[in-house]
Amino acid sequence: MYKLKKRCGKTRRGEFVTPHGTIQTPVFMNVGTLAAIKGAVSSMDLKEIGCQVELSNTYHLHLRPGDNVIKKMGGLHKFMNWDRPILTDSGGFQVFSLSGIRKIKEEGVYFNSHIDGKKIFMGPEESMQIQSNIGSTIAMAFDECIPNPSTREYVENSVSRTTRWLKRCKIELNRLNSLPDTINNKQMLFGINQGGTYEDIRIEHAKVIAKMDLDGYAIGGLAVGETHDEMYRIIDAVVPYLPQEKPIYLMGVGLPSNILEAVDRGVDFFDCVLPARNGRHGHVFTKDGKINLMNAKFELDSKPIDEGCQCPTCKNYSRAYIRHLFKAKEMLAMRLCVLHNLYFYNNLMQEIREAIDGDYFKEYKVTKLKEWGNRA
Ligand SMILES: [Zn+2]
Repeated sequence: MYKLKKRCGKTRRGEFVTPHGTIQTPVFMNVGTLAAIKGAVSSMDLKEIGCQVELSNTYHLHLRPGDNVIKKMGGLHKFMNWDRPILTDSGGFQVFSLSGIRKIKEEGVYFNSHIDGKKIFMGPEESMQIQSNIGSTIAMAFDECIPNPSTREYVENSVSRTTRWLKRCKIELNRLNSLPDTINNKQMLFGINQGGTYEDIRIEHAKVIAKMDLDGYAIGGLAVGETHDEMYRIIDAVVPYLPQEKPIYLMGVGLPSNILEAVDRGVDFFDCVLPARNGRHGHVFTKDGKINLMNAKFELDSKPIDEGCQCPTCKNYSRAYIRHLFKAKEMLAMRLCVLHNLYFYNNLMQEIREAIDGDYFKEYKVTKLKEWGNRA
């Protein structure tokens, strides 16, 4: 259940109550594709860096170790020892972006595993069954992530099918939640708005899914190659048509500056692989923008990555040391940078929430964008 605590223009400060605890929003979800954050970061670490919600990928967990294994182990919370909320994506995005030859039919998608080429079928019912086996807090509806750009005709047909799939997802999840051996019988369902960069199709779709009384609503199919301005234009167009008493999730976004802009436009949930991926390459976020620790100028730099940062990395290690670890190809280098970057994102959300509570979000946004020099 979503409780709106404060509103400032379109910006929202809220709480989302789930069976695994209350989420303070706006929130950034930390992406652990295979039930681990890439870069050797564990669920123990996630608590220390202020993570509220962990996100795992249905498609990946279905292939490895298999959702039946996770169910037999008591669900993903027990399996990875994480007692806070978990969101699972539907597998749709990976089916469309990773897998080999695929056929989209009314019943679902036929595709090949990206690991061994094995033929797999996934439709709305299968996606819900896998997510139910995983036992996540929030399940995402199975949708088609439309390639960008696509013709108007293609987008219209795809969005209609995504709506029909959403209805099937809701019926199937209700059925699964009523079974006696279900891991999490209070599993929630978020629907996903699609429509490419066609505002009118997006709005029409938002109106249709808004009537379906879901637990939350996501904006999908953005951050897939369109410009930032196009993305903001779509968010501006769609948000007013999504139910205001439910959380709004912008999928796969993004840079710290994108998050500030989207919070300004009424978005509550975010996720992105960017902080972890950047960290694994020594690219770290600081209050003055992003820096590359591989740069020679950090060889004798005794300062932490970001002065004043309270993350475990900055409290203990220098830029020079971490740079050395990268050069020596020590795994610890990645781990330390991923910890810092995720802390940076989680702390950014904490500051955003404080700014909304304190009625200074607009000023905070302007100051931050200036400090980062629009580079971050
Ligand atoms: Zn730090």
